[in-house]
Amino acid sequence: MTSSDYDVAIVGGGLVGGCLACALGRTGLRTLVIEAVAPRTDRHPSYDERVIALSWTSQRILAGIGLWPRIADGAEPIHQVQVSQAGGFGITRIRADEEAVEALGYVIPARLLGIAIHEVLSEQTNLTLLAPARLSEFQIDAESASLVVRAGEDLVRLRGRLLVAADGGDSKVRQRLGIRVREHRYGQDAVIATVTAERPQPGTAFERFTETGPLALLPLSGGRYSVVWTTLEEQTAELLSLSDEAFVARLRDRFGLKLGRFLEPSRRLAYPLRLMLTPDPTGPRTALIGNAAHTLHPVAGQGLNLGLRDVAALAEVLSASNRAGLDPGSASVLASYRDWRRADHAAVAAVTDALARHFIHTWPPLRLARDLGLLGLGLFAGPRHLLARRLMGRYGRQTRLARGLRLEIPDE
Ligand SMILES: Cc1cc2nc3c(=O)[nH]c(=O)nc-3n(C[C@H](O)[C@H](O)[C@H](O)COP(=O)(O)OP(=O)(O)OC[C@H]3O[C@@H](n4cnc5c(N)ncnc54)[C@H](O)[C@@H]3O)c2cc1C
Repeated sequence: MTSSDYDVAIVGGGLVGGCLACALGRTGLRTLVIEAVAPRTDRHPSYDERVIALSWTSQRILAGIGLWPRIADGAEPIHQVQVSQAGGFGITRIRADEEAVEALGYVIPARLLGIAIHEVLSEQTNLTLLAPARLSEFQIDAESASLVVRAGEDLVRLRGRLLVAADGGDSKVRQRLGIRVREHRYGQDAVIATVTAERPQPGTAFERFTETGPLALLPLSGGRYSVVWTTLEEQTAELLSLSDEAFVARLRDRFGLKLGRFLEPSRRLAYPLRLMLTPDPTGPRTALIGNAAHTLHPVAGQGLNLGLRDVAALAEVLSASNRAGLDPGSASVLASYRDWRRADHAAVAAVTDALARHFIHTWPPLRLARDLGLLGLGLFAGPRHLLARRLMGRYGRQTRLARGLRLEIPDE
C-alpha cells in the first residue's frame, strides 16, 4: 500500500470520465477528477449540442450508476431502426418487439447527461473534482502517478495509484506515454442539426447510406429529429453556409419524402471524422477509456456506447480489486481491464470503419451487393437478430452493470 493521495485519478471529466467517477462513488475508492472546463458551461467540449443514441446496454449501465432517473424524462425511446441506401431498393427494419425489449435504445441530448453527471458527482463524498483544471505534467513510478495540475494561477501536485485517461481523442496522457495507435482520417465531417418533420414517425430512427456517407435521423420529442449528416470535407463549408430553407430542401432531397417536409432547422455544427484505436488501452499504472482509447466514425452511434462499456468494465475490475486489497494501478488489475475490453474495441472499430468506407462507393456491383445485403437482413430474422444484439451492446462478456446488477459483488 502506497501513501498516494488518491486511489484513482481521472483526467477528463467529460461524458466518459464523468460516468466512471459516478460509478466509483459506492466503491470507497478515493477518486480525483481533473477536468479542463468548468461544469455547467454552455461550451463544454464533451456535452455540447450533439444528441446521443444510447444503446439498451448503456441505459442499464446509466441506471446502475444512478444517472438514468435524472435523464429518463428527456430520453426518447427507439422502437425501430430503419436502414436503407439512397436510390436503392434494400431496406432493413430492426424492431424492439422482435428483440423482446421495450426499446432498442434511447435518444438523449448530450448536455442533459452532462448536467446529471455533475449532480451525481456533487453528492459523492469520496470524490474531489478539480474543474476548471488541466493536467500539465505527470510521471509514473513504481508506487504511483505523480501529477502536476494547473488550476487557474496555481500549480497543484497530487498523486494517484491509478491514472485513468478519459481526456478524449487527442489524449495528452496517451501521447505522453507513447501508447501506439492506429489512425485513419476519413476526409469527411459530420454536420449536426435538429429539424422538425412534417410527418414524424415517433420511435423510429433512420440510418440512410448516401454517396457522401451515412445520414442519420434520430427521433426527439415533439416531432423533432437530430440529424447527423456525413459530408465530404470539401462540401462541409457549403452545407454550413446554406440558408435554412436551402438546408432543409437539401436534406429532403437526400433523405426522401418519408417524413414529409423538414422545418425549423437549428444552428449547424461540424465535426471532423477519423478512426483512432489503441490496440492496448493500458500503460504503466494507466488505463485509457472512451475516446482516449477509441475515436470512431459516428455511423451507427457507437462511440459513447463503447466508452460506457469501458466504464462498466473498469469500475467492476476496480471494485473487485479494492475488496481484495490489491493496488488499483498494478499490472494484474490493468491486464484484467485490457483483456476484457480489447476485443470489443477492435470489433466495433472494424464494423464502423467498414460501414463508413464501403457504403460510399458508387460502383454499381457494390451498390447492388449492399442492396441485396439490406434486403437479406430484412428477410431473414437470424442475421437481423445478430445485428440487433450488436446495436444494443448485448454480446460478449457482459459487465454486472450491463446485466442490471449492482457493481459490488455482495458478501457471501
Ligand atoms: C457528431 C457526433 C455524433 C455522435 N453520436 C453518437 C451517438 O449517437 N452514440 C454514441 O454512442 N456516440 C456518439 N458519438 C460519440 C461520442 O460523442 C463520444 O464517443 C463521447 O462523447 C466521448 O466522450 P469522452 O468523455 O471519451 O471524450 P470527450 O468528450 O472528448 O471528453 C474529454 C474531456 O477531457 C477533458 N480534457 C482533455 N484534456 C484534458 C487535460 N489535459 N486536463 C483535464 N481535462 C482534459 C476535456 O475538457 C473533455 O471534457 C458522436 C460523436 C459525434 C462527433
